[in-house]
Amino acid sequence: MPVNVLFSARPALWPVYEPLLTKGLTEAGLDFHLATDIDPDQVDYVVYAPSGGLLDFTPYTRLKAVLSLWAGVEKIAGNETLTVPLARMVDHGLTQGMTEWVVGHVLRYHLGMDQHITVQDGVWTPDVPPLAPERQVCILGLGALGQVAARALAALNFDVTGWSRTAKDIPGITCLHGDDGLHATLAQAEILVLLLPDTPATEHILNPDTLALLPKGACIINPGRGPLIDDDALLAALNTGQVGHATLDVFRVEPLPVDHPYWAHPNVTVTPHIASETRPVTAAQVICDNIRRSEAGEPFLHLVDRSLGY
Ligand code: NDP
Repeated sequence: MPVNVLFSARPALWPVYEPLLTKGLTEAGLDFHLATDIDPDQVDYVVYAPSGGLLDFTPYTRLKAVLSLWAGVEKIAGNETLTVPLARMVDHGLTQGMTEWVVGHVLRYHLGMDQHITVQDGVWTPDVPPLAPERQVCILGLGALGQVAARALAALNFDVTGWSRTAKDIPGITCLHGDDGLHATLAQAEILVLLLPDTPATEHILNPDTLALLPKGACIINPGRGPLIDDDALLAALNTGQVGHATLDVFRVEPLPVDHPYWAHPNVTVTPHIASETRPVTAAQVICDNIRRSEAGEPFLHLVDRSLGY
């Protein structure tokens, strides 16, 4: 009997992924049927993105796993109709893209590029930026993305501190965890990068109290998820100068509504959720490898802990 793989994502992705998944499953030596429409009670695996619209997994009675195309799983982690393993996306291409985006924006803040490139006011202010070892960059979240971004920044000699839920030991990075660790991290964050998942525990992790811990004029880069930030608190902190500038890629409502104050704020850069994305060639390999592993009785890679939401 073939392994039935349902592709449930927005239709535009099917012509991209169909040949890649076909190749990967063939190379895995599997007898398979891959389609966008399979009777629910015949489906073994769902390749999933929220844009496919699949919400009720109850009829999927022989389902073995849901394999997310995206790294962020906040839209499915809490789905109570899902009772089988959920794997999230950890993809080299996605990680590389995020590292480039984070390093680019950290360097932009570090070098003061906005002042020296976009403001051409005829005023000659030769403020030479410090060197990277004198710049404290902090990353909240030391997972698949945060850890690689932290290493890349440390390789440029930035003074990097990272914060995570569990204790870590990463050469070249000061690793902190827990509530005390969060306070210590924020207190030194001249440039703060958010690479946390959106979970009940991380919502509004930047709020009036935690924003007040930052050094005055700190810059914030958020490619994580919109709900990590209390937007009203950030706007207030921007207006007092407590936060000097924010580059925001993700928002509680996307696309960001046209009348949202972030669009017009002089100290906010809005980017339209483009920090990074799953790259089909490498992501299809991850999906196929997980199906192969499952069929061979091996454990799934990148499993989501549903109780934690990531
Ligand atoms: P991971 O699950 O690999 O890492 C998450 C990190 O956050 C871990 O270090 C984890 O700690 C930490 N964390 C989670 N909850 C807490 C908490 N309550 N307190 C402290 N630390 C916590 O995720 P990824 O690195 O792969 O991705 C991070 C996020 O990036 C995604 O969830 C997604 O929202 C976002 N993203 C955004 C994209 C964009 O284009 N803007 C593209 C892709 C992803 P620990 O290590 O101890 O478990």
